[in-house]
Amino acid sequence: MQILLTLICDPARPVIDAGLLDAVRDKLEDLGGIAGTPDWLAPGIACDLACAGVSPAEAAPAIRTVIGNAPVDLVIHEEREERRRKLLIADMDSTIITVECLDEIADFAGRKKEVAAITEQAMRGELEFEAALRARIGMLGPLPEATLATAYAERVKLMPGAQALVQTMRANGAQCVLVSGGFTYFTERVAREVGFHETFANRLLFENGRLTGVADPILGREAKLATLRHQCEKLQITPDQALAVGDGANDLAMIEVAGMGVAYRAKPVVAAAARAQINHADLTALLYLQGYRSSEFHAG
Ligand SMILES: [Mg+2]
Repeated sequence: MQILLTLICDPARPVIDAGLLDAVRDKLEDLGGIAGTPDWLAPGIACDLACAGVSPAEAAPAIRTVIGNAPVDLVIHEEREERRRKLLIADMDSTIITVECLDEIADFAGRKKEVAAITEQAMRGELEFEAALRARIGMLGPLPEATLATAYAERVKLMPGAQALVQTMRANGAQCVLVSGGFTYFTERVAREVGFHETFANRLLFENGRLTGVADPILGREAKLATLRHQCEKLQITPDQALAVGDGANDLAMIEVAGMGVAYRAKPVVAAAARAQINHADLTALLYLQGYRSSEFHAG
């Protein structure tokens, strides 16, 4: 069996060196594998290493021991699959942006602590998503609509690598879709800023400038999966050719079905189920996973 290992770290802290790669190759050879020559996708930041004669199940734990506590992510691809994906389907909160919008809105209503505690439980998969969303919106009270603009301006920050990820995939012909259990007010603005083609999310309802609730049906975990399937049909591709990324339990279904499902700085329940886990690198890791070199990136 031919496998391909990709080692990736935070571009702000390039720590992948020849010493680490030598140790990885030695370990693969201890397992009876024949390792190839490292192929640097970005010097110090991302590197591919092919290896014959070892299965991913054997290689993964052994290589993780070599990496130890170094801030390096490891993804193992089986054989020489088509790495470049035709569809990106991404969660927004804590994935494409650094915050949870609902928690930030709640701060303006003086309820951030209580709301964030429920968000955390829901994202860990301990609460049913739709009910948890309604409960949190209920806690905001008759919030002024203008709060959304303030929250967007003051609190929403893009995750490092978000624009490079979307714009590079777009330039290479991929469809890029933002799908969020959060709110259209934010997804539409973030989608424009980052460069997504389309966005799907929940719509908050206001009357006389005050929050009254959320439109039905609520976009939750099953709707994210349905969006993935629908986009694949539209593009006439299989879910195998899609890359899905997220951090919360409501991303789990789409992450499990996509050919490349990535848990990005994710809750444990998501990380455990995803094919790839990124805990140290930024979102450009999703380009390296697809074999893009830093010299091919488009951004900003
Ligand atoms: Mg999220």
